[in-house]
Formats: sequence, C-alpha cells, structure tokens
Amino acid sequence: MSFSRRAFLGGGLAAPATLRTGLTLTGAGLAVPLAATRARAEPKSHSFRLGDSEIIVLSDGGLSLPASTLASNVPEAERAAFLQANGDDPNTRASALNITLIRRGDALVLVDTGAGMNFFETAGQLADSFEEAGIDREAVTHVVLTHAHPDHVWGIIDDFDETERFPNAAYLIGAAEWDFWMDPDFISGNPEVLHSFALGAQRNLGAVAEKTERVGADHAVVPGVTMIATPGHTPGHMSVLVEDGGQQLLVLGDALTHPAVSFARPDWQPSTDQLPEVAAATRKQLLGRAATDELLLIGYHLPWPGVGRAEAKDGAWRYVPVS
Ligand SMILES: [Zn+2]
Repeated sequence: MSFSRRAFLGGGLAAPATLRTGLTLTGAGLAVPLAATRARAEPKSHSFRLGDSEIIVLSDGGLSLPASTLASNVPEAERAAFLQANGDDPNTRASALNITLIRRGDALVLVDTGAGMNFFETAGQLADSFEEAGIDREAVTHVVLTHAHPDHVWGIIDDFDETERFPNAAYLIGAAEWDFWMDPDFISGNPEVLHSFALGAQRNLGAVAEKTERVGADHAVVPGVTMIATPGHTPGHMSVLVEDGGQQLLVLGDALTHPAVSFARPDWQPSTDQLPEVAAATRKQLLGRAATDELLLIGYHLPWPGVGRAEAKDGAWRYVPVS
C-alpha cells in the first residue's frame, strides 16, 4: 500500500494550512486556509422514526479538504469536469459531520463522537447540538465507533479537563480497528501522515479502554442494532444496521462519503481511504444491497443531515436525499 501524506491530502497545491492541532498540512496546499476563515455553523438536529425507534441526526459542524482528496486514481481534469457537471465545487470537498443517535427502548446509542475541539475549528459542535436538541449526553448508553479517524473519535474526551463527554456509555469498536490504531509500535510501523491521527486515537480510545468492547462482524449492540464489517476506509471500519418495523437503516460511517463520487464513481479512490481497493469493493457491495433492499442510509459526510437512499443508475448508483 502506498500511503503518503501527499497521497492522503491530495498533494500538488500551494499553500500550507494549519489545523487546530498544530498539525500542519504543509505541501498539501489548500487553496483556502482550513481553520481560520469559516464561520461556525449553528448546532442542529434532525429526527425521524424508524418503526418504534427514534433516529436523531446531530451536527458536529463541518470540514473541508481539497477536492483532489476525492480521487487519487483519475486525472485532475476528469475529476474537475465530473464535479462541475454535478454542480459541485471542483476545488474544495466540503463535508458535513452528521452524527447518528438511536433511541430504542431504554437504549440511547450514539454512532461516533465527532471531532472534539482539536481537529478543525469548524468541527467539534456535537455537545452544542445535544444541548440544542434537549438531550443529556449522560443519557447515552452505548457509543459505537465506526472507525478511529479524528473526526469520529477525538470527541470522546474533553481535552480541557480530560473528562469523558459520554460518561455513562459502554463503547464498542471493531477489533481490527482497535488493534490497528492502538498498536504500541504504531509510529515505527506506519507512515508519518497517520502519526497524529494515531496519537489522537490512542489518547481518546485509551481514556475509555476499560469500558470498550472490541467486536467482530455482525455484533448486536442491542436487539435490532447490529455492527457490520465495511472495511477499506480504515482496516476495521464498521457500519451500523438498524432494523425496526420492517424497515432498515444503515448508518454508513465513512463507507460512502460523497453524494456524487461515492455513488456514481465507486471505483474512484479517495486518498482518505487507507485500503483503496478494499474500500471500493465495500462501496459497490453496499450500494448494490442498499438499492436492492431499499435501505435508508445515513452518511457521516453526506450533505446535512445525510439521510437518503441509493438508486441504481447507468451501471452505477445515484444518491437520493430523503428529507
Ligand atoms: Zn470521517
């Protein structure tokens, strides 16, 4: 696997940018400084029912990366033309941060914890969105982690006082994901681009290690809420299938990240995928299943609130938002 800092961030542009961590994307060259110029969005929530379950999507804010991160295996002109034809910015990949909360009986299951305050200035708003929605973070019974990238796990602890943001929750994560990031020899064995990610993952996951269950595929969190293996974006990436009232909802995590590219061009390899070919195979398998079984989808990075379906189209798929 070739996985350099340059590949991860898309490379080839001019200006450096600094994230809140002090993680400097030098050489990645973002056309617009990431952190400083974007106003913070309002905290927000969106809810609907799935059978007897209540599904609540909470915003953690948003972030943006160079559009070059959307495809490392196609020419720049082809990528830009495709994005323009879809009405997207050909230079900037703007991503929402849509966090799913499932209320089912006595269980309140949160899928991922957001970015916390140290990744992007425009992220880390999950606590505000909980407050806005009138939901107590202490009421969360389970936190399922799809994977351990910063925007998904750096919200586990509050870095100001090192307290847990969801103090009463049990944690669940794929065993392969845990083993990858928590490897004590991570720094010597992995490319530099991942080092700050790993240090953040180790700080956050380490804080809840004793209450974290490392699970395999098809693990039931509570009846009707099942973790399924969707590897490729990261080695142990998992998604969450919610079944209630004869309906199915798949909380994707980062298995599908872009409303046009992930659906219509599933073979394009985003540089943010750590195992690009595995991720592409997972995407196609998921898209086929989602279209055939008419699954409702929630995508962490799809446009707010990220709720939609996949429809077969022209030998690939099309994202259809559901409001
Ligand atoms: Zn993500």
